[in-house]
Amino acid sequence: SDKAIIIGAGIAGIAAAIRLAVRGYSVTVFEAGRHPGGKLSEIKSDGFRFDAGPSLFTMPQYVDELFTLAGKDPREHYKYLKLDKVCKYFFEDGARINAYADLQKFAAEVEHHTQDTKESVLNFLDKSAEIYHITDPVFLQRSLHKWKNYFNKTTLRSLLRFSRIDAFRTMNQANSSKFADSKTIRLFNRYATYNGSNPYQAPATLNVIPHFEQHFGAYFPEGGMYSIIRALTNLAIDCGVKFQFETYIDQIVLDGKKAKGVRSGQSMHPADIIVSNMDIWYTYRTLLKHVKAPENILGQERSSSALIFYWGISGSFPELDLHNIFFTEDYEDEFRQIWERKDIAMDPTIYLNISSKIEKSDAPPGKENWFTMINVPSNSGQNWDKLIESARNNIIAKLTRILNREIETLIVSEQILDPRKIDSQTFSFQGSLYGSSSNSQFAAFLRHANFSSKIEGLYFAGGSVHPGGGIPLALLSAKIVDELVK
Ligand code: FAD
Repeated sequence: SDKAIIIGAGIAGIAAAIRLAVRGYSVTVFEAGRHPGGKLSEIKSDGFRFDAGPSLFTMPQYVDELFTLAGKDPREHYKYLKLDKVCKYFFEDGARINAYADLQKFAAEVEHHTQDTKESVLNFLDKSAEIYHITDPVFLQRSLHKWKNYFNKTTLRSLLRFSRIDAFRTMNQANSSKFADSKTIRLFNRYATYNGSNPYQAPATLNVIPHFEQHFGAYFPEGGMYSIIRALTNLAIDCGVKFQFETYIDQIVLDGKKAKGVRSGQSMHPADIIVSNMDIWYTYRTLLKHVKAPENILGQERSSSALIFYWGISGSFPELDLHNIFFTEDYEDEFRQIWERKDIAMDPTIYLNISSKIEKSDAPPGKENWFTMINVPSNSGQNWDKLIESARNNIIAKLTRILNREIETLIVSEQILDPRKIDSQTFSFQGSLYGSSSNSQFAAFLRHANFSSKIEGLYFAGGSVHPGGGIPLALLSAKIVDELVK
């Protein structure tokens, strides 16, 4: 059978491997690291377990689809539960807003804690759904880079409704016109960070994101996020995929205009098709040094990165949930620091994820595993050691203030992830989480296609190419590659 090589065992690399194996290819995945999963990895230390990267699981149907495709029942291989409460928001003035999965309940909760009405929230989410129905068939489900895709009924119908997607004002402008209360505005502006963008610049089209969460739900996989990778890797192996770990690919070898294999050190591995799951920037700069790179795409502003403290906490906090947000009072300043000054605000918004709230074995009895994250700029050579030190103090002070309990002395274990490490551990250029940012209306068109128009047999899947970053979109990129190969 024809041979396919996948460079990288990130979630999109594994998904592409499964799809191609089901299609009859003999597939080998080469992974530089020791484990599959890429950014989706886990850390174990001092009796605590942490999901190191993604912590919010949405659109599980795209994972399930891979099992179904391979003729298996997804529920026999991994399980997840739907969250009744998606997130808990904390504000400095003492307000606490529960984002319930139930739409009516959530809207009522916002009405109760802010100056905004239930109706304004429901109207907002209706608009969010409308943007989803227009953009999904055009931007997400297929390649934007094949002309024939523009000449079918669904796409044309969507394009005709294009003025409805709110692309010509920013998210913050749209949200400030719909809501009166700064709390509600911050709550909805925050969705820009789901793909590492800036709500004060990104088009209001990104208001589609709350629809993903509200309509399709937020989930928690049994055993934590990493169990998704465990289940998918086993599925791939069942489908005949071979994994070779600790094997860094340093070149895509060409024969004229055709990809003919990959090289790792002295070893050449021939293939009929190659899928790079490596960040598109590194793919061109390191694996395709002699090919003319698409500079307009590689030069796009990168999405933001993250600074994470994985804290083992000796104590329990009943008022905290699985997903918690502690908002800054000056959201605009936080984004100005990140995007204009490439710096970290003194009072950053904190995301606190505690998987042991659901998965008890993730922390020893009476203790909690705190994944404490703030958004930070991608790496452009800042003095990270200094930034980390002051961010750590500011985070601890803010949590201590809002929770009204001394935090520093409860930290019994600590690991840190910063943009430099994200870059070096997963070859993510500048440590950005989601490839390029979506801060302009044109961002969707400036992501690299899922195939090479110059090199036959070369494809791209992952968070840095079309349709974008995050688990659901990375999985869709693999699906589009599969369609293109067919
Ligand atoms: P990656 O995860 O980037 O993996 C690429 C793999 O390829 C790596 O394993 C790397 O070692 C390997 N590789 C690269 N080059 C080579 C080479 N030359 N040879 C061999 N191997 C190579 N998404 C969500 O949906 N929800 C979230 O809550 C969320 N939160 C996040 C929080 C953090 C801290 C981070 C880092 C990311 C988060 N994301 C989230 C984003 C999500 O993790 C990514 O979009 C997604 O995992 C990207 O998958 P990928 O397939 O592009 O590959």
